[in-house]
Amino acid sequence: MMKSLKQHIADVQNIQKQMEEFFAYDQKVKIYHGTTNSTRAQKFEKGKYIDVSNLDHIIEINTAQQYILVEPNVPMDKLVEETLRCGLVPPVVMEFPGITVGGGIQGGAGESSSCKYGLFHDASLEYEMVLGNGEIIMTSPSQNEDLFYSTACSYGSLGIITLVKLRLIPSKKFIHLTYYSVGSFDEAINFLSEKCSGSANFIDGIMFAKDHGTIMIGDFSDKKELPVSTFGKPADEWFYLHANKISKQYKKYEEIIPIRDYLFRYDIGGFWVGRYFFTFFKIPFIKITAYIFYRLFNTRTLYRLLHSTNISQQYFVQDLSLPSNSALEFLQFIDKKLHIYPLWLCPLRPGKNDKLSPNYIDTNLVINVGVWGELKGSYDQFIKINHEVEKEVYDLHGRKVLYAHSYYSREQFWNIYDYKWYKEIRDKYFANSVFPDIYEKIKVTKRYKRSILSGLWQAWRSSKLPIE
Ligand SMILES: Cc1cc2nc3c(=O)[nH]c(=O)nc-3n(C[C@H](O)[C@H](O)[C@H](O)COP(=O)(O)OP(=O)(O)OC[C@H]3O[C@@H](n4cnc5c(N)ncnc54)[C@H](O)[C@@H]3O)c2cc1C
Repeated sequence: MMKSLKQHIADVQNIQKQMEEFFAYDQKVKIYHGTTNSTRAQKFEKGKYIDVSNLDHIIEINTAQQYILVEPNVPMDKLVEETLRCGLVPPVVMEFPGITVGGGIQGGAGESSSCKYGLFHDASLEYEMVLGNGEIIMTSPSQNEDLFYSTACSYGSLGIITLVKLRLIPSKKFIHLTYYSVGSFDEAINFLSEKCSGSANFIDGIMFAKDHGTIMIGDFSDKKELPVSTFGKPADEWFYLHANKISKQYKKYEEIIPIRDYLFRYDIGGFWVGRYFFTFFKIPFIKITAYIFYRLFNTRTLYRLLHSTNISQQYFVQDLSLPSNSALEFLQFIDKKLHIYPLWLCPLRPGKNDKLSPNYIDTNLVINVGVWGELKGSYDQFIKINHEVEKEVYDLHGRKVLYAHSYYSREQFWNIYDYKWYKEIRDKYFANSVFPDIYEKIKVTKRYKRSILSGLWQAWRSSKLPIE
């Protein structure tokens, strides 16, 4: 997992040379790193991409100063494996083990500790970057700070991150998790807001229905005196089913979860999205089938299947960030319009300087609502509902997390984000002629063509995104 600094420099110089050529020919390129946790179809064409997939090593873990120097293509599970050996962990670890350091920074990733620490990129201290013209520069709050702050959530449209200095915090072996059941959206939001002003490290919630949910509060712990639950083995229950059962039985329940199992507790089943594969292939969703197909239901495999079969337009999969004072109205809207359950509630500390971030919202607390479920109806209805949700989020002063499908017109999009500022940064750092802009990257323009059988074959043959 470790790489020498010398080897890292050689790998970055290789990327630099390629970028110089692309720049000389004004050739637009996409950043390829082999995988993705976005739900948009990804197309990489020969001669039109830059491959950063070998930037997947750790250069240094500094235990005294509590930071790590890490290349961008290191996924969360490998990152945590190495830092935990030193008793440390990044403040924010995304729930899916395959999300990478670079993708998490560029994609506005967060999770249950985001209430305390902000998004994943808020722990970044410094980036080494290759610009559009091939120049290698360092960015930090004191060096090229305009690029440092605008890089987060820019979806690779400003430059290539080649190395990250990331802050770490002390960790313990277990998480002590307390479940509180709640009986309405109102109660859930009030409870989240109250708990977020306290000292808890991890806070998230699930609404299983509009009158039934759970808020889960976690803290680091060394003690094992409570019941212990695990979520990484074939016989383990999917986490959301476990949480649902508990919240029906108890008003308050406490347990201990080994740290790795807690951090990736939603991996098996992809929160609950994996159950749609059972429906799609007409397999009963029961304990024994969940056990038999365990290997297929980790998020890496689920994403592979999603991309190779191209079925994402049958589902509404979006994360929407709302200021806490309009979250209730938004949940009521989703209940009425889509009636998708469960819903994920993840409170986030608002952004400060990261103008492209989904939580750059004027509020004390942002509530991220994960709405992931099946949509019945035609393609036209799918587009219509996406437009309606985009409008509702805008009217309620929220923002979409842009990893998913976006159907905004260019004008609508730049009403949300500051185009003048963004264009100046792109001009200043030589991004314009080589990197597609953020709108080009996130806008879905066409109807996807499903390919079930060939898709399954492709997913079986390779774990990497194809290059055409
Ligand atoms: C059901 C569902 C639930 C989700 N839940 C969560 C969640 O709980 N928490 C969470 O944080 N996220 C969640 N996500 C979204 C996920 O965090 C984002 O999609 C994340 O950005 C993915 O990172 P990735 O490593 O897969 O990168 P990609 O999706 O491949 O890349 C994201 C962007 O970064 C760019 N990029 C990648 N590497 C570099 C680099 N080295 N330099 C410059 N640009 C680069 C890419 O070009 C792309 O535009 C969820 C998604 C779904 C569908």
